[in-house]
Amino acid sequence: MKDGAPKPESQAECAGVLLPLPLVGAYDYKFARAAVRGLVVMAPLGPRESLGVVWGKAEGSVAESKLKEAVPLEGDPVLPAGLCDFVDWVAQYTLTLPGLVLAMVLRSRQAFEPETPRIGYVKGQIVPAKMTPSRRRVLDVAADGLARSIPQLAVEANVTPGVVRGLVDAGALYAIELPEFAPFTAPDPGFTQPLLDTEQDLAAHLLRGAVAGGRFGVSLLDGVTGSGKTETYFEAVAEALRAGKQTLILLPEIALTVQFLDRFAARFGVRPAEWHSDLSQKERRHVWRAVLSGEARVVVGARSALFLPFKELGLVIVDEEHEQAYKQEDGAIYHARDMAVVRGRIEGCPVVLASATPSLESYVNAKSGRYAHLKLHRRYGGAVMPEVRLIDLTRARGEPGTFLSPPLREALAVTLGAGEQAMLFLNRRGYAPLTLCEACGHKLVCPNCSAWLVEHRYRKRLVCHHCGYETAIPPQCPQCGTAGSFAACGPGVERVAEEFRSVFPEARVAIASSDTLHGPLETQAAIRAMSKRETDVLIGTQIVAKGHHFPQLTLVGVVDADLGGSDGDLRARERTFQLLHQVAGRAGRAEKPGLVLMQTRNPADAVMQALISADRDAFYDQETIYRRTAHAPPFGRLAAIILSGHDGDAVRTAGRLLAKAAPQARGVKVWGPTPAFYSLLRGQTRERLLVQTEKAIDVQAYLRAWLVAVKPAKSVRLTVDVDPVSFF
Ligand code: ADP
Ligand code: ZN
Repeated sequence: MKDGAPKPESQAECAGVLLPLPLVGAYDYKFARAAVRGLVVMAPLGPRESLGVVWGKAEGSVAESKLKEAVPLEGDPVLPAGLCDFVDWVAQYTLTLPGLVLAMVLRSRQAFEPETPRIGYVKGQIVPAKMTPSRRRVLDVAADGLARSIPQLAVEANVTPGVVRGLVDAGALYAIELPEFAPFTAPDPGFTQPLLDTEQDLAAHLLRGAVAGGRFGVSLLDGVTGSGKTETYFEAVAEALRAGKQTLILLPEIALTVQFLDRFAARFGVRPAEWHSDLSQKERRHVWRAVLSGEARVVVGARSALFLPFKELGLVIVDEEHEQAYKQEDGAIYHARDMAVVRGRIEGCPVVLASATPSLESYVNAKSGRYAHLKLHRRYGGAVMPEVRLIDLTRARGEPGTFLSPPLREALAVTLGAGEQAMLFLNRRGYAPLTLCEACGHKLVCPNCSAWLVEHRYRKRLVCHHCGYETAIPPQCPQCGTAGSFAACGPGVERVAEEFRSVFPEARVAIASSDTLHGPLETQAAIRAMSKRETDVLIGTQIVAKGHHFPQLTLVGVVDADLGGSDGDLRARERTFQLLHQVAGRAGRAEKPGLVLMQTRNPADAVMQALISADRDAFYDQETIYRRTAHAPPFGRLAAIILSGHDGDAVRTAGRLLAKAAPQARGVKVWGPTPAFYSLLRGQTRERLLVQTEKAIDVQAYLRAWLVAVKPAKSVRLTVDVDPVSFF
């Protein structure tokens, strides 16, 4: 090009830009200079601007001269290529618009704005003319040279903020700017080195090898409760740290993270970065950027952490991989465990799935050799597996209206008498799941949902657990008019706690459910109180079932082991087994042996028998046979289509038309439409269709071909759930 020649038009580039909005595909924009995939830009969109990401070549349907210009953000941030590929993959697999998947990566422009520095105060050379004991205390605190905010100094020196401000005015303290957050310190792989037992050591050796090999592969770390799966996979984390790679650890619930963070810090010297919905906007920005820059080496998070911009991911761990909480049920519907495997494959790094009760899918993959199967058969440190016994409620029943049978009460008395702790588990919130008129049998149901209202006695309210509707118990029955006729039917945790207190008035009881513990902080406090033995008996819903380690807990009572066993869903047995086995696994994790008592009306049931026999695999093998025979996952594929809307007739019509339009294909069956289990939810009528295909069939292609041909009425919402785990 000659000097002074005008810049040819072709120097400007065009590219497709994906916007984090519900649009079909990328839009073309032009750029002042070359634009690489992943470049984060601001793109004009109608009268506004939107954040966007350069996604690929321009489609070219609009003339270049008519295109608007997109401008890269300050500093030219670029999303890692692996993340862009992952977004495309998730979108195509789940039939979600790619922009909506991108929206899980890019929440707001704020993530790219500079952080606001904090002001801290440090001690200067000037000695104030007037010295008081309060001022002295502040200066003593500040003597270590660390910068602190005014409130921090006031608290530490036990003075009013005014005293601190006085010292600032006198020049004895001066202000400096601090970064908004302290930078993440890299965890130290050699901070402490636990002594692994033989099986742990073998598993750790294989995991380290997988990390060092730097290739994709999945390992199922299948160890009994208390076998030290965490200590074992920490060795893989250590290896990733040494290799200069980042690690992502997924946990199913934030409530589980506190104990986890402490254990991590004990092993690696610092806490890892955290990612979950309870972070403030600023904390999110900080973590997001630290992941992108590589400053955060290890991230522990909920399922959405899968969408963080790791640039050198070397290991993904999914703890409690069987948990249903990994399935995101709204917005983009995806299973975080399955997508973690996908991200690992895209990034070319190993994935570790850990559980004492793996999902049947993972179990089958491990058995067939697709996944490496690493087993830990024994609890760590000589602790033995708890003894599980059934209490047959058809024989051993207490007074009517009581829910703790005589044998369970006896066992509680023995445990408390020995100064040990107990846990009672019932997977039902509130006081009673059903309120019934004793005169006419009228049941109190939610006006917006086809569901019973649940009594919450502490709050003196009836509550719908689906839509949040609340009301007082009516003074008389709306159907028959009888006054004071309502009675509580069946137990919730509050009612069990009431009964327990009446039998053991001296014992210190805590109730753990999402109604009594508001947010992760309260949950953590309850867990700490249990760990520190400030609680004798913890009565709770599934919150208490998960990964906690309470060394002094020796008795676990399951109030109703039959709950959830008969709802006809293909994973009902598997889930009941997993949940109860996990609950049982809380007992006797240290020196003292544990006892688990499960109250049931069906002691002969296969799940109950599997729980008392130590032969877990026999149960899994039987389940495998059932699933194979039924061509159910993982031996066949499922996808659900849910139609919903306020206009019930429109929803039902849409269901019929949709079923009629279903293409005929070999190896594909379409069931429905049928009213969903909750046929009314939040005021919306719901109908479901289920597609079942042979394993080899591309179910996404089938769905696309089908759905492109039908347009349900505007008032009807259509949701696709590939690999559904909930059949409600
Ligand atoms: P799991 O997750 O398999 O149920 P954990 O990882 O919680 O089991 O381990 C149970 C307990 O045993 C924890 O308190 C853990 O710190 C301890 N533990 C396990 N392995 C070791 C080890 N090699 N050295 C020291 N403590 C260990
Ligand atoms: Zn409701």
